[in-house]
Amino acid sequence: MTAERQLFGGQDHVGRQKRPTGEAIKRGLLGSCPNCGRGRLFRAWLKPVDACEVCHEEMHHQRADDLPAYLVILVAGHLVVGAFSAVEAVTSLTMWQHLAIWVPLTLLLTLGLLQSVKGGVIGLQWALYMHGFGGHEDLIDTHPEA
Ligand SMILES: [Zn+2]
Repeated sequence: MTAERQLFGGQDHVGRQKRPTGEAIKRGLLGSCPNCGRGRLFRAWLKPVDACEVCHEEMHHQRADDLPAYLVILVAGHLVVGAFSAVEAVTSLTMWQHLAIWVPLTLLLTLGLLQSVKGGVIGLQWALYMHGFGGHEDLIDTHPEA
């Protein structure tokens, strides 16, 4: 840990109140506001609310981008390929039987995990004051290197 990342007295290196990262991720995984844990995090399938209905913490500036999809692919891929390999080792199913099992299972698994994982990513971003969660806008580099 570098000196600038050390935390003192419940504050981070720039004096902001330290946020509980694990708790925020857990609340996000459950679809709840990472700040209070009582308000909803999503107003639609993968669309977060603009602000928490209970604590009014703003969520409109979160940018989870592709990280939730990458994490879901990582988890679902390992589960499905592992299960496929185990079943293939002990049975002699045809190609069509395998397709009938693994394609729907993969779809259900990925769609089932995606909202929770996105909530967890939003919780992590909130806990780390990323993307405007620190009460200020992200700075845009107006002088990019040539
Ligand atoms: Zn809240």
